[in-house]
Amino acid sequence: MKKIVSVLGSTGSIGLNAINIFKKKKNIFKYNLLSANKNYNLICKQIDSLKPKTFVINDYKIFIKIKKKYKNKKVKILNEIKLNKNFHKSDITVAAIPGIAGLLPTISMIKKSKKILIANKESIICGWNLIKKEAKKNKTIIVPVDSEHFSIMKLMENLDQSQIKKVYLTASGGPFLNYKLSKLKNVKPNEAIKHPKWKMGKKISIDSATLMNKMLELIEAQKLFSITKDKIEILIHPQSLVHAVIELNNGIYKFISHETTMLIPLSNAIFDGNLRIDDFIKTKKSKKNLSSINDLNFHKVDIKRFPTFRLKDRLIEHVSTPIIINAANEILVDQYLDKKIPFNSFFKYLSLVMKDRNYRKYAIKEPKNISQIYLIDKWSREITLKYIRKKNA
Ligand code: NDP
Repeated sequence: MKKIVSVLGSTGSIGLNAINIFKKKKNIFKYNLLSANKNYNLICKQIDSLKPKTFVINDYKIFIKIKKKYKNKKVKILNEIKLNKNFHKSDITVAAIPGIAGLLPTISMIKKSKKILIANKESIICGWNLIKKEAKKNKTIIVPVDSEHFSIMKLMENLDQSQIKKVYLTASGGPFLNYKLSKLKNVKPNEAIKHPKWKMGKKISIDSATLMNKMLELIEAQKLFSITKDKIEILIHPQSLVHAVIELNNGIYKFISHETTMLIPLSNAIFDGNLRIDDFIKTKKSKKNLSSINDLNFHKVDIKRFPTFRLKDRLIEHVSTPIIINAANEILVDQYLDKKIPFNSFFKYLSLVMKDRNYRKYAIKEPKNISQIYLIDKWSREITLKYIRKKNA
């Protein structure tokens, strides 16, 4: 029997990687639900070639346009996920809509999936308790596919928390690792989205350049694996070949290394590790063995270059601090891409939000449902914009 698969964010970097894996084993997979935002051409192409049962399109204008185009076809075109009794359960769902926008679709699909591969770190950061609860209720297996977290999960298999001394998350350092500090203020969005090692969507590329991606991943790791903040460190590792390191109390270090492509965590998560990677990736012969790795460097984060690292010990100081930081960062990324704020201003604005007189009031609220998460998210977005406007006035 074919495996039924769904992809949230099917036209994005992670979505396309997942679909490329499914396509390599065409006779095994059948598409249930795909979803995207506004990439009209690619959405039409995916409807025609992959023949999903349902395509969910977030952008209303594009939704109307595509609904019209496919009005006499079998595919169901929706503007949001509707879980009625005819909705098929998926064997595997890939959750890859960036930002908190991914939270509701991810939670909806947990109810209708046997296994969910979560790339959308922001939904883990903001809604982990709800995700965990829904997964438990529906017996859905959760697999984090952010490469660092996939590696930590694998490293922790058969380990007890008490054996772990430290967990190290590696960071490539992004495009400005060796850039002149005095010029950082003026780097343009098109330079910031050019990641030296990974090919990714715009938001995560900016997050990598500011190191906010690693701050978000620290929260993600703490939520997923219940690691306390004193046990987790960040190391700059420019080669991006080692994705996570665990130091054990017995003096042994374990790490996971693989080629710098999301195809590896994704394909391993899809096939539960039972695959031949050569079926999915054509690796250059010169890169195929360990002797091609000449050096692996790991070093501490330079706070002058990455001021957002100063937030490291405050990320989970209150129960909803992660929601506030995530929302403020989403606004800052958008504003930076719109050229409204300079590249080196992220830490300044995040600090202003965390010094605001209402910060504590929202940060200590423990959300019980999505609406309460949105309320905290909304406050953070508004206050971040207020500080930006004040600065620009
Ligand atoms: P992309 O920007 O490449 O793709 C985003 C996808 O989501 C597209 O299909 C886009 O549709 C869709 N989308 C965007 N906004 C909305 C919305 N409001 N509602 C519904 N769909 C929407 O992102 P990435 O694939 O790079 O990242 C996805 C997630 O995975 C992020 O959370 C990121 O942090 C995480 N991740 C990504 C990695 C990577 O290598 N890319 C690595 C590890 C984690 P459209 O194309 O139509 O606009």
